[in-house]
Amino acid sequence: MADDAGQQDTKKNGAMPGRDSERDMLVKNRLRDGSLKLYELDRELSPIDAIRVRREYIEAETGTKMENVGIFSIDVERVVKRNCENMIGAVQVPVGVAGPVQVNGVHAQGSYWLPLATTEGALIASVNRGCSAITKAGGADVRIIHDGMTRAPVFATDSVAHAVQVCDWVKLHRDELKTLAESTTSHGKLSDIVTFIAGTSVYVRLEFDTKDAMGMNMVTIAGGKVADLIAQATGARLIALSGNMCTDKKPAAINGIMGRGRSVVAGIALTHELISTVFKTDARSIAEVNYRKNLVGSARAGATGFNAHAANVVAAMFIACGQDAAHAIDGSTCITTVDLTETGAYIAITLPSLPVGTVGGGTSVDTQQECLRLLGVAGSGTPPGTNARKFAEIIGTAVLAGELSLLGALAAQHLARAHQQLGRG
Ligand code: NAP
Repeated sequence: MADDAGQQDTKKNGAMPGRDSERDMLVKNRLRDGSLKLYELDRELSPIDAIRVRREYIEAETGTKMENVGIFSIDVERVVKRNCENMIGAVQVPVGVAGPVQVNGVHAQGSYWLPLATTEGALIASVNRGCSAITKAGGADVRIIHDGMTRAPVFATDSVAHAVQVCDWVKLHRDELKTLAESTTSHGKLSDIVTFIAGTSVYVRLEFDTKDAMGMNMVTIAGGKVADLIAQATGARLIALSGNMCTDKKPAAINGIMGRGRSVVAGIALTHELISTVFKTDARSIAEVNYRKNLVGSARAGATGFNAHAANVVAAMFIACGQDAAHAIDGSTCITTVDLTETGAYIAITLPSLPVGTVGGGTSVDTQQECLRLLGVAGSGTPPGTNARKFAEIIGTAVLAGELSLLGALAAQHLARAHQQLGRG
């Protein structure tokens, strides 16, 4: 049991103090009789006390103990305001490193250690092997081929003729809409507007250059202003600020075709010798696994992604680096290609939809911020946008490393053995 002095020493640690003060008991009684809501605790107590009292209340109500959830080091002042309502503590996801890996991008140029937060044994070892192959081969070529975060409000119109009129109005007033959208942000730039019609429904897909922010809040705020003006000027009824043509956090072909967030390509030429020494297989076998599994298998399954496990690497880097983990779904739209060459194989990944940022969202949580710092991408870039692009290039290389390694393991029939050794130890 800690005393008040102990509480001060550990002001970031929600596990303290454990003994109910009179104030805590009064607050818990009000929670019990319903006169105080769990989410109202932040108004009555300091953030760290609110977290502890809320957790203790839940423990008592459910008869469970969460002493580990109550131990954390992150500064919660910002987190409870911006990132997590009804906070009761933190779960710890182990983070490991793979690398160093040589990245030859436009924004990321050099050797990087990749932070990966995961509980899947063998994943980091696998990415590490891919990093080794990439670095031995001289580094991955990486480029951002498109950059734009989207929001697509949906409007109801009276008829198909009205729907077409609404789209025409949007086209004619593009400059006005751009000025209005950009009045809500000092960083975001409206880069494109594309309209879609389905019967009497109209979708206006707004695309923004969000600089170093992943940008979902930014484009939603800007999109709200734009949507109101469209509704007012055309008589269309705004139904929802997100009409799912964005498409946010759902697997969707539109993101693969038009891009969303940062669209990244990364590739590496591997020689026959390198494939043999690192992966214990040959170029032809890797190409055949890619063809029959990633391409034909995915097509037969009706998948929107044609890769081995891109989402694995995207999710692990997203969790480590404070990205919105639900956006790992976008990583699954990756296409992996293997071209046989005279000297070996050219292996590439295309990530059309990688929503990443180095400011905003969860990027300022202490532990996640440290992982971004490890990559040299925390905060705003100079000029703005360059940090997020650098980060996207590094993730593109990490995904390539993961694809190389898994394709190699499958081609050499090593996958089950690696999982047995590393995941079941
Ligand atoms: P945010 O934390 O809401 O805002 C980022 C803000 O940082 C920008 O709007 C910008 O302010 C400012 N900023 C400072 N330096 C910047 C720089 N160098 N580049 C760009 N902006 C800079 O973050 P967000 O990226 O817009 O949104 C991410 C959050 O949205 C995540 O927490 C995610 O979970 C959540 N999310 C929201 C929705 C939604 O529908 N709202 C959907 C999915 C996810 P100014 O705009 O004033 O310039």
